[in-house]
Amino acid sequence: MSTATDTHIQRLPEHVANQIAAGEVVQRPASVVKELMENALDAGAQRIVVELKDAGRNRIVVEDNGLGMGAEDAVLCFERHATSKLRSADDLLGLATMGFRGEALASIASIARVELRTRRAEDELGLSLVIEGGEHQAPEPVHCDVGTRMTVKHLFFNVPARRNFLKSDPVELRHAIDEFQRIALAHPNRTFRLSHNGGELFDLPSGSLRQRLVRVFGARYDERLVPVDEKTDVVGLSGFVGKPEFARRTRGEQFLFVNGRFIKHPAFHAAVLRAMDGLLTPGQFPLYVLFLEVDASRVDVNIHPTKVEAKFQEERPIVAILQAAVKRALGRFHVAPSLDFDTETAFDIAPPTSRTGSGRASNPTGPRLQSLSCSTDGR
Ligand code: ADP
Ligand code: MG
Repeated sequence: MSTATDTHIQRLPEHVANQIAAGEVVQRPASVVKELMENALDAGAQRIVVELKDAGRNRIVVEDNGLGMGAEDAVLCFERHATSKLRSADDLLGLATMGFRGEALASIASIARVELRTRRAEDELGLSLVIEGGEHQAPEPVHCDVGTRMTVKHLFFNVPARRNFLKSDPVELRHAIDEFQRIALAHPNRTFRLSHNGGELFDLPSGSLRQRLVRVFGARYDERLVPVDEKTDVVGLSGFVGKPEFARRTRGEQFLFVNGRFIKHPAFHAAVLRAMDGLLTPGQFPLYVLFLEVDASRVDVNIHPTKVEAKFQEERPIVAILQAAVKRALGRFHVAPSLDFDTETAFDIAPPTSRTGSGRASNPTGPRLQSLSCSTDGR
């Protein structure tokens, strides 16, 4: 493609720069789901509805009842480095919102056809806008509810190499569900729905974290959850770990959140496993859904474009606290039965050998550890 001229250096056109940025931020439909849901959260939405078609490759809709946008913002939000969440690089540390780079929408709009419909409470009419391959038409007034609805169609339509790189629908759907679950677990006080090709996958009314977990994973999880709660100067810790005897051979039930944001952190993961030392069958992974609250200026989540990794100033103390807290929680559970079982949810008393719900693979029936807890289920 390149033509030989005297100058070798060229400034990339804006839409090419956006497409390159999109390569970092948008790997697959699931990335779009994540970015749009985070924007909805940042806009203060109490209800977020996600609809996917063909695992999201042909259509992703995220609808929220958040603040909405006025006419200027509705156009501006698709520009690169356009954000309402950051004013200076100093703001990066100590940021309470999910987004901050102001590149998600610009990236998505450069590699898909995006339709925006949005209205603020103070406006009588909302507006709709179509933007395709970075080119947008003039916004038009529409009647619509307060909030924002983003529709992303034909992801990577103009980047065939990336479209071809996508995996099968079941794999892409799994990724999208993972992102949805991470966000839904982190915000049990908000309502979420997810559907795929018209079929409902999750309908999650707002409630407690325990209710959210049971809604996401199934009623039989109620008896498996051990609450973790710990407050120190360095870190606040809350959430649940699964009883070790229900650990699975497959990963996928490990959720760690820092200040409400899902992260992966091998050292913290290892700390949880160490806390269950001797209680886990080797090669099995326990469920955990743990929330770390850390002074926002002492954690850097900006080291990774999709913000899934984080650096902590007090990593070592946190590892120690995490390990001790989980251990203590399990110990406490051993001595006294948990009294905060939520009676709204039924117990599943199926024997462990028949645990095959929600389309997940069941564990093989190898040697099983004796239940740690005071049995609440007659075992
Ligand atoms: P960032 O989230 O990093 O600011 P984005 O490209 O994701 O960057 O969004 C750009 C801006 O568009 C946001 O800062 C916000 O002001 C606005 N915006 C995006 N999505 C929504 C939404 N669902 N509701 C209201 N405003 C939104
Ligand atoms: Mg964003």
